[in-house]
Amino acid sequence: MTDRYAVIGNPIEQSKSPLIHAEFARACGQTIEYGRILGPLGGFAACVDSFRAEGGKGLNVTAPFKLDACAYCTDLSLDAQLAGAVNAMKFEGDRVWGENFDGVGLVRDLQINLATPLRGLRVLVLGAGGATRGAWLPLLRCQPARLVVANRSIDKSLDLVNVAREHLPELAQQCQLRGIGYADLADQTFDVVLHATSAGLSGQMPPVPATVFARGALAYDLTYGKGLTPFLRLAQHAGVANLADGVGMLAEQAAEAYAWWRGVRPDTASVIRQLTVPLK
Ligand code: NDP
Repeated sequence: MTDRYAVIGNPIEQSKSPLIHAEFARACGQTIEYGRILGPLGGFAACVDSFRAEGGKGLNVTAPFKLDACAYCTDLSLDAQLAGAVNAMKFEGDRVWGENFDGVGLVRDLQINLATPLRGLRVLVLGAGGATRGAWLPLLRCQPARLVVANRSIDKSLDLVNVAREHLPELAQQCQLRGIGYADLADQTFDVVLHATSAGLSGQMPPVPATVFARGALAYDLTYGKGLTPFLRLAQHAGVANLADGVGMLAEQAAEAYAWWRGVRPDTASVIRQLTVPLK
């Protein structure tokens, strides 16, 4: 029987995961079945139970089920535990393994695809939701000189600083770590600015001064497929030439999941090419 995988979310029709995994399987010369599942709100566990009962091998998990997936798993990776969120699941008998590849996907996109090694740089993350929680320790492991998270609810920013100090104390000590609100961004500049709020979904953005971008900065919006978002437009008006959206992160986290399930890591270049929307 062909191995079965799927992505589960609500809504789900917008998901690019079926296209990405079909391309990965083709490129790796493997045969898999990969579908999409519209998970009923409040009915995540029952839906996953039936998928497993039908022989499903693994799931990608998207909004709003990443926390439900975390609760469902019997075994969580450290990144998934610390993020409190799971974006990939693997089923082996009674065991359900949970991973969170968002952080490693983002870091690979920044450091490899966009040739921006973070070591020694000043990095700002806007937003402290699930995506930032998944990326926070992977970002710190890259040893930036300064790592700052700004969020509307400052308590979430401060919580991330505590998470870093607790779990990666040595790296946290070597880095200037700060959790702040948007009002504290005046007079601060950064080499890499990552926009990770969901404000863009409604065409908005947090109140960020155009002065946060250092000369030669990279402005990166985790949202993808939307062209020039309000955040990227702000950066462009501030003279930033290095603009990127989250399409590479999407492809890289998917490749991590594919490798975890199938034992071979597909190249992401072709998928990124297919999904890239011009930033204009
Ligand atoms: P969450 O819902 O977990 O977090 C939302 C964040 O946005 C919070 O920090 C929230 O602040 C902030 N926020 C929401 N509205 C506003 C607003 N109007 N003004 C200021 N801040 C606001 O979302 P995720 O972390 O899961 O996702 C964030 C973004 O990252 C989304 O655009 C998503 O599409 C993208 N993403 C991309 C991925 C990729 O592979 N490229 C993977 C995962 C996510 P507060 O805490 O104060 O409410």
